[in-house]
Amino acid sequence: MRHKIYIAGHKGMVGSAIRKKLLFQGHSAEQLLCKTREELNLTNQQAVLDFFERETPDQVYLAAAKVGGIHANNTYPAEFIFENLMIESNIINAAFQTGVKKLLFLGSSCIYPKDTIQPISESALLTGPLESTNEPYAIAKIAGIKLCESFNRQYGATRGIDYRSVMPTNLYGPGDNYHKENSHVVPALIRRFHEAKLSHAQSVTVWGTGLPRRELLHVDDMAEASIYIMNLDKEIYSRATFPMQSHINVGSGSDISIADLAKIIAHIVQYAGDIVFDTTKPDGTMRKLMDNSKIKQLGWAPGISLEDGLTSTYNDFLSHNTRKD
Ligand code: GDP
Repeated sequence: MRHKIYIAGHKGMVGSAIRKKLLFQGHSAEQLLCKTREELNLTNQQAVLDFFERETPDQVYLAAAKVGGIHANNTYPAEFIFENLMIESNIINAAFQTGVKKLLFLGSSCIYPKDTIQPISESALLTGPLESTNEPYAIAKIAGIKLCESFNRQYGATRGIDYRSVMPTNLYGPGDNYHKENSHVVPALIRRFHEAKLSHAQSVTVWGTGLPRRELLHVDDMAEASIYIMNLDKEIYSRATFPMQSHINVGSGSDISIADLAKIIAHIVQYAGDIVFDTTKPDGTMRKLMDNSKIKQLGWAPGISLEDGLTSTYNDFLSHNTRKD
């Protein structure tokens, strides 16, 4: 019998990309368990446990999370820490209680200290203070890694538990959130430049100084890496993540300043006006480039260039925004 795979967060940007990739790789739609927020409230412990007991998945992709950009993290810290802790705890515990051996937890690069050596290696975890704008979210994501690690440590040998964690860098791509204030920088700028083009605005405002640098990875690359790590031989993964059998970075390997990113997006959108910087808005962490050498050594590398990825993302945005045109 083929695996039954539960994708928690299949409507989100990463979860939907994982679902698409698994279907493309030959899994049937019936094999892929997916529940909407209305069907299953992941912050409800009993509901999650009942779901796992009923459906008995073999593998779990934990891509469900409350996510948002710098403004959303700053404005809703209570929701960001509470909902994420609940979702992770409920799913990881229910998976363990119902005998799930393989689970992949999706974290974030914001788990790493604010001031740390770049590119950031996996061993930088818990070596210094976090960036304050998204500390509650980061704490929840660190807890998720430690949940996976702890279940492995206590039950890995006796119950064959093999729960892994991947730390994506900043992701972008189809299915992103284009909210005016709560979104991440790529969808926010795509929308702002597009609307400026349509209204013939003289200038577009970009938050902060433009100096912070961000590493960006297309979500389809992230989905591919997630499936790759999930199915990697246990001994190989253990050796690569020794001694904690813990998390692994997934990044593109290069970063870009927000100012240069804005220029590229303006070019793709074909907006010819000025770009101005609003320095009353926070910069957040100045640099966040991850060391992706571990996953590269394991045989995976990203395949989508930033230019190509941003172009296809803009086309996807347009196809969902035809009424605005
Ligand atoms: P972060 O990586 O957690 O800081 O997430 P964001 O994607 O929200 O922000 C990345 C950087 O882009 C920060 O330095 C922001 O100040 C900057 N930025 C510039 N314009 C915008 C915008 O319109 N929205 C967002 N979210 N960030 C912006």
